[in-house]
Amino acid sequence: MQTFKGTKIVNGIAIGKIKIYKAPVYEINEELVSDIAAELERFEAARVKVQEDQNALYEKEMKEGHKDTAGIFEAHAIMLDDEDLLDSCKEIMSEGHTAEFAVRDGFEAAAEMFRNMDDEYFQARSADVIDLKNSMLDVLFGADTANLQGTEPAILVAEDLAPSETVKLDKSLLLGLVTRQGSSNSHTAILARSMNWPTIIQCHDITDDCDGKFAILDSYNSCIYVEPAQYLIDELTAKQHEDREKEAKLQQLKGKPSETKDGYKVRLYANIGGPKDINAVIENDAEGVGLFRSEFVYLDSKTDPTEDEQFAAYKKVLEGLAPRLVIIRTCDIGADKTIDYMKLDKEENPALGFRAVRICLNRREFFKRQLRALLRASTFGNLGIMFPMIISKWEVQECKEILEECKKELQAEGKAVAEKIEIGIMIETPAAALCADELAEEVDFFSLGTNDLTQYTCAIDRQSANLERFSDTHHPAVLRLIRETIEAGHRHNTWVGICGELGADPELTEEFLKWGVDELSVNPKSILPLRDRVRNADLSKYKKTESLEPKADAAAEAEKPKGLFGRLFS
Ligand code: PEP
Ligand code: MG
Repeated sequence: MQTFKGTKIVNGIAIGKIKIYKAPVYEINEELVSDIAAELERFEAARVKVQEDQNALYEKEMKEGHKDTAGIFEAHAIMLDDEDLLDSCKEIMSEGHTAEFAVRDGFEAAAEMFRNMDDEYFQARSADVIDLKNSMLDVLFGADTANLQGTEPAILVAEDLAPSETVKLDKSLLLGLVTRQGSSNSHTAILARSMNWPTIIQCHDITDDCDGKFAILDSYNSCIYVEPAQYLIDELTAKQHEDREKEAKLQQLKGKPSETKDGYKVRLYANIGGPKDINAVIENDAEGVGLFRSEFVYLDSKTDPTEDEQFAAYKKVLEGLAPRLVIIRTCDIGADKTIDYMKLDKEENPALGFRAVRICLNRREFFKRQLRALLRASTFGNLGIMFPMIISKWEVQECKEILEECKKELQAEGKAVAEKIEIGIMIETPAAALCADELAEEVDFFSLGTNDLTQYTCAIDRQSANLERFSDTHHPAVLRLIRETIEAGHRHNTWVGICGELGADPELTEEFLKWGVDELSVNPKSILPLRDRVRNADLSKYKKTESLEPKADAAAEAEKPKGLFGRLFS
């Protein structure tokens, strides 16, 4: 038996033969040619063919209801019109090189540019350019790539799979996916997640001679066993059956209330990044959206998105999900999410720097563009607006003043704005958690951003891979701040949700419910498992010893000393 380790992307067990997926390798003619016009013509014909293929893949994925995947091919088709990319290829051909040579060097240079960007999202886009390069070369060499997957069901092992390769796979023959390269942010990883295939990436050591061998992919443990021992076959076959039964049971929870055995109801909402996620919200039966990270609208755009462009994105989501509540967080740029066109200064400590609402309050016109777009979209559904990275009451007041100013402007222009829009803030700094009583007076809801709350409370950089050992997602200081925030919110009739990753942690669900959390907003795939967790919880056992209904106890609570330390030690 051989064991190869990787990084897990999608949990699951796949059992079957390995198929090594090998994309063709082309010998490119390095010699100069004299007929430049002929090469330009061949290049253009290949470009048109690949663009048609990408548009066809887009249509196919749309028809099958895979909007996220369809978006990838739409972007590919657009990339093939990119003037910089096309000009650089034409320049190479004008020096006498072949169309194949120009595709290899021109597309490689563009991929390299993406690879060298600071932002992980853009780094992952280099794989899209390489995907297009390979498709162009397939066409120029007239290769037949139809049967690379083989004809039997198999665990596919590839160097890295490009999105267009991935969607061309026959899903009925795909048991699981292993790649030697790849990143968790790549489109292949996104596709694997949306298809729910057991997947590991960066499994560097797996060798080609595994082709055809029997194996078990155990992505729970981030590894693949080749020619596994019998005890593993028995154990993991049983685990696979268990998973299938669980999955089938989870599907039955669609439409069922998210309510504990003793009748405590919590709202289970989804975290999304834009209109492409509408389907996932509906398919996973989320009751609303607790966090629409609007910065993805900015990250997906080459230039600062206009009011109309933003309006279109927000309207699409609100309309597509009405009458569900959709909470759109205002732009949370800065720290790890950087955008060239924002021209932000380089900082020593970007996580503690000029980010999120701090940028918005200093760049009023930029902020107003987003607020006006949000207000205009508000009549198309049920909108909530949330401000990130708040530490002080004046910041919330200023955000609300600017929002009011935008509302007045729009009304004067004769544009409609919804009558009721819930206003909230992220509680993601210790300062906000400790001042929750004062902040609650200003807003309808709080949403605990536990990713940043943990980072700032524990002084653990959330981006650093070296701090794994010191990082404790259940640190008592963070849990105490969460509980205190829920209680503070309820003293002022402010509802409280959690939209950080901790919200989906099944080990904490019962604690959060016990503390009276009103909403948990998680990635769409976690909705049904979380509903299952909620429906199996029984809080009645705690009722004998402590109150579970802070809202009902608001008057008594108000008598207690104010402030976190007063309450903790009272
Ligand atoms: C958080 O900080 O917990 C959060 C939800 O926001 P983000 O992860 O986008 O910073
Ligand atoms: Mg945050």
